Amino acid sequence: MNTRIVKMEEENLDEQALQEAGMLIKAGGLVAFPTETVYGLGGDALNGTSSAKIYAAKGRPSDNPLIIHIADMEALPVVVREVPQAAYMLAQRYWPGPLTMIFNRAECVPRETTGGLETVAVRMPSNKIAQALIREAGGYIAAPSANLSGRPSPTVAKYVVQDLDGRVDMIIDGGDADLGLESTIIDLTGDKPMILRPGYITEEMLREAIGQVETDQTIMDGDAKQAPKAPGMKYRHYAPKGSLVIVEGETGKRISYINEQLSLQKKAGRKTGVIATDETAGNYLADSVKSVGKRRDEEQIAKALFRILREFDDEEVQMIYAESFEKRGVGHAVMNRLLKAAGHQVVKL
Ligand code: AMP
Ligand code: MG
Repeated sequence: MNTRIVKMEEENLDEQALQEAGMLIKAGGLVAFPTETVYGLGGDALNGTSSAKIYAAKGRPSDNPLIIHIADMEALPVVVREVPQAAYMLAQRYWPGPLTMIFNRAECVPRETTGGLETVAVRMPSNKIAQALIREAGGYIAAPSANLSGRPSPTVAKYVVQDLDGRVDMIIDGGDADLGLESTIIDLTGDKPMILRPGYITEEMLREAIGQVETDQTIMDGDAKQAPKAPGMKYRHYAPKGSLVIVEGETGKRISYINEQLSLQKKAGRKTGVIATDETAGNYLADSVKSVGKRRDEEQIAKALFRILREFDDEEVQMIYAESFEKRGVGHAVMNRLLKAAGHQVVKL
């Protein structure tokens, strides 16, 4: 398949290209596009064949449901059985934005889109290119992250091209994703609203809008016996090609431990990397040291993480050590992704 790559800016939409992209999706094709979280791989959410194509293009297991992206509130009742009051309250505060809500599925949503589930995930992105594309495509785009299954989510178009060139009809390059981390997922189908995947919209922010909120406890636990409630959270995910180990402990100890390990790895002939912060980056003796930014700036860390994991792949780094981060605010989501990327390999000093 020949993939067309189109560049555009959020503030200067290319209406003609968006119309063509919308037509491709309506005709059952696939278009990768930017959102404020990460790039999405989009197809017509109401066409089961399109969703099947998305799984094939990503190499994604077909029991891992897709998120339906909408651009207008009127679209929501069409794809869900009922809209609970909490959903209106959350939508008023956080839509458009990085929040996905789970509802009971309406009949018109094909099983391929929901991975066979009776529930359906819906999000309204704030990115203007995404919104325009959704409207051009008829209002309902099913889109997982635009990476090959298992790889870190793409936050820049370069990595979408790396994974999907030749597998989709069009890739829209809209520059860097603003947030760089996938949406928070909240399930509204149970007795109490429950967070299935932490993200930029934190538990505290959700509480402010709707009061009581719980978090699926299996998501941060590498040894959990129960499967996580979001099917996608059970897969090894976000993983760089090299081996990744998280090192927890007081700063001085952590630096000496990581440097000792780096020297052993180098002796063994491996190319090494470190995920550090601005405060510590100068201290490490790795082949490639990358800073996620200032330790206190969790939003910056969230934005940098996936890009850095991809850069290590570009540099063919084989052994990566990462500092650990506070599980507070957005840091909770950062550590969730980092733990999964590391396959829960953590050294506690
Ligand atoms: P991605 O779009 O690649 O970030 O992945 C979408 C995530 O949403 C995966 O972890 C899915 O398992 C999760 N998800 C989508 N639909 C549902 C649903 N109906 N119930 C629970 N989790 C869902
Ligand atoms: Mg994904």
